[in-house]
Amino acid sequence: MKLSEPTKVKAEHLKRDAYLYIRQSTLQQVFENPESTRRQYDLKGRAVALGWPAEQIVVIDSDLGQSGASATDREGFQRLVGDVGTGRAGIVMGLEVSRLARNSSDWHRLLEICALSDTLILDEDGIYDPAHFNDRLLLGLKGTMSEAELHVLRARLLGGYMAKARRGELRIRLPVGLVYDAADKVQLDPDRQVRDAIELLFTTFARTGSAGDTFRTFNQQSLQFPCRPPHGPRMGELVWNDLSYSRTLEVLHNPRYAGAFVLGRTRQRKGGTGRRTTRKLSREEWSVLLHDMHDGYISWDEFEENQQRLRDNNYRIRGTGGTTPPREGTALLQGIALCGVCGKRMAIRYHLRKGGRVPWYCCRRGPMRWPGDKCQEIPGAGIDASISKLVVEAVTPMALDVALRVQEELASRFAEADNLRRKQVERARYDAEAARRRYMKVDPDNRLVADTLEADWNDKLRTFNKTQEEYERSRQEDKQTLGPKQREHIETLAADFPAVWNASSTTDKDRKRMLRLIIEDVTLFKHPEEIAAHVRFRGGATKTLSLERPMLSWKTWLTPPQAVSEIDRLLEEHTDAEIARILNHQGYRSGKGLRFHSKIVSQIRRDNGLKNKFERLREHGMITVDEIAQKAGVTRQTVRRWQREGQLQAYPCNNKGLCLYNPTGIPLKNQRPPRKSKPLGDSNDHQRSKEVQFEV
Ligand SMILES: [Zn+2]
Repeated sequence: MKLSEPTKVKAEHLKRDAYLYIRQSTLQQVFENPESTRRQYDLKGRAVALGWPAEQIVVIDSDLGQSGASATDREGFQRLVGDVGTGRAGIVMGLEVSRLARNSSDWHRLLEICALSDTLILDEDGIYDPAHFNDRLLLGLKGTMSEAELHVLRARLLGGYMAKARRGELRIRLPVGLVYDAADKVQLDPDRQVRDAIELLFTTFARTGSAGDTFRTFNQQSLQFPCRPPHGPRMGELVWNDLSYSRTLEVLHNPRYAGAFVLGRTRQRKGGTGRRTTRKLSREEWSVLLHDMHDGYISWDEFEENQQRLRDNNYRIRGTGGTTPPREGTALLQGIALCGVCGKRMAIRYHLRKGGRVPWYCCRRGPMRWPGDKCQEIPGAGIDASISKLVVEAVTPMALDVALRVQEELASRFAEADNLRRKQVERARYDAEAARRRYMKVDPDNRLVADTLEADWNDKLRTFNKTQEEYERSRQEDKQTLGPKQREHIETLAADFPAVWNASSTTDKDRKRMLRLIIEDVTLFKHPEEIAAHVRFRGGATKTLSLERPMLSWKTWLTPPQAVSEIDRLLEEHTDAEIARILNHQGYRSGKGLRFHSKIVSQIRRDNGLKNKFERLREHGMITVDEIAQKAGVTRQTVRRWQREGQLQAYPCNNKGLCLYNPTGIPLKNQRPPRKSKPLGDSNDHQRSKEVQFEV
């Protein structure tokens, strides 16, 4: 090969530049393997020996620290290909040229371009002209072998890695709370404070059943959570900060806390744009899962239970799966109401009625795609009330026992939190003391250092004071909650469960929590006539309640029947406006709870087919002003005058002045002699007729 070198390098090659491509896969290699880098730069001498002037040698080393597995992201390699393609390169040099690209397709593309642009290739073994078949075959082989080598290398590395992992001996980063001991065995963190914090997180989750509530509890009680940053300036150090929601979930989902060894819970994939995306894998896809490999904070069963609970809580799959944790709404059966038609969990909707929120239990077939796509909708108020009643009846005998246990639990919970907070204070005190010692030791003349240390000491002291104040405050609060007075109060309340249940100070959330201690779930079914609620108690007992279907809303707005009959009675002698006044005075209210007025009364009258006062008077023979004027042979004005002067009695029919008159009441002296004359002297008759006038 060496013999043919001079014949391959021609004058037209020398006119163009020589390209030296230098690459190390990782930055670690750049530092730890300087020999390889040096050998790569030595190739420069070879080019000079072949006749290239030193200033015509272009060194491309911008890819140091980049893997050759793909051309993307390798800016240097892309520049090389570009320059070769435009015919600027006479020769391309590399230590082992095939390492230019570990990926066959990139390599063959480069060969193709070199052959087209008549560019030579040089490595430590010799010089090649890709336009020659033999050289090209050799280069192609080198590329294939290089790719194979990479594959074997990776397989061997990964094989060893996985074998170790399958034995559970692979040393990987541990979550906070677990550490490697001197013999590389996983142990619980020797720091008692760290262990307590993690234990408290698990017990809080067991109690509240919700990651959100766990995280809120920690923050409400100003409890901090440990963390060992995996990178950054404080890498590996123990840092205490507020617990975040995502961190809570991370801890709850991590199987290592249950003593299991796991590997490959996520998979990273490089997208078309070169961006890495991480995907969570299902448990079946995990590379390694080994139980009972080391001590844990919870058992595997508890871990499984927690996962189930978290899945059930997941909002997105609500409706298909399990119970949701109690929320603030008033609907008592939130999360535990099942649809009697399809068996799914029912969702809650609130409607605004009479100023308050009224719950409805609704079931939809899957996601709501169009209105009306639902199984059944049941008004919740009546159901909630009956369930309340049922619970109060069922619970009273055992209430005292429950309350005492609740109190015990409260006490132990307070003790745990108190313990953690005390440790926080101790740590702050220790930090302050250490800072003080550091400050004392420094040479006072070294102002720069002394000032920094003093500032640090002050800082630590402030933190200490704040932590201590916080500790004292929480302690006082706990004391009050668990004081003898409080205890007595709890005991009295416990003896009277209905009072606790109905107390306005009991929140809906608490009520739901209590309910779930007693009831597993309630299946609701809307029959044409009634609503059936099948209650399943914890422990297996069942009970079926059947409730009347509540009236449709317009029916509930109907006027009470007593008010209607009262209106009917009053209509005999009163106008609508008068009736409204009388009803209001008697305390009646309309179906919507409003005070009556004439329009409501007339509406009710029409709705119930009641005759008004005018019609009733007509039935009794009363006549209108026109009729009486005609009968008496006078004008309407005269009739009005009689009315004003009190000679003629008028019966008002509405508040607009419409009156009816008794035909027998025409004043005699004004009566013109009728054509068919009536016998005179009927004044007695008149008197009599006045007496027998319409009586009411
Ligand atoms: Zn349904």
